[in-house]
Amino acid sequence: MKRREYVLVFGAVLIAAFVSVTQPAFAGDGNAFEGHKFPELKYAFNALEPYIDAQTMEIHYTRHHKAYYTNFMTAAEGTDLLKTPMEQIFANMSKHSATIRNNGGGFYNHNFFWENLSPSKQEIPAGLKNAIEKDLGSFDAFKEAFTKAAMTRFGSGWAWLSVDKNGKLFVSSTANQDNPLMDVVEAQGTPILGLDVWEHAYYLKYQNKRADYVTGFWNIIDWSVVEARYKAALAK
Ligand code: MN
Repeated sequence: MKRREYVLVFGAVLIAAFVSVTQPAFAGDGNAFEGHKFPELKYAFNALEPYIDAQTMEIHYTRHHKAYYTNFMTAAEGTDLLKTPMEQIFANMSKHSATIRNNGGGFYNHNFFWENLSPSKQEIPAGLKNAIEKDLGSFDAFKEAFTKAAMTRFGSGWAWLSVDKNGKLFVSSTANQDNPLMDVVEAQGTPILGLDVWEHAYYLKYQNKRADYVTGFWNIIDWSVVEARYKAALAK
């Protein structure tokens, strides 16, 4: 090889090495975690109307959710928690403070909630629908169980559809900002759909009528996200 060719080959190797280092790692790759980030919303504040109004969305996201994030980051400052994915923190929740539990849960649960909402009504994918029918009886039985979980949660909390350690779907609810990933909750598993039933999620539009808010939720579920989470949970 002539000198000029050496330079070209060496240059190409350097560029290839640079590209491989700067490419973001694949999602789900354990090495990809780069710290806890407050997420962007993938739709406008008014995109979920009439089911969730713009003012509720704006206050919920910019104040409530942001406060959980800020309080979590403040409490985690100077600790390994800053370098630990939330799922791992939740698996050891019993070892951490109530501040980490409440604010880490609030930070994560809202990320999770925004992701499983969609401005356009979607049909549930056949594969996920079949799984729900197999594990929960029928789609209507699932809706009924989920609605009951949302309605009977006294005070503040969440309703969930999750996958248990045997790959079976189940419905549950948790108090406050707990979620099924936490080692402190009764029904543990991998959540794939979540609904916030704190009053701050619906009070401006629905006041005390939580049932109307829960009914509206079925029109704004991003089933493609739920299905992707289901597949990922089964692959774990
Ligand atoms: Mn909330």
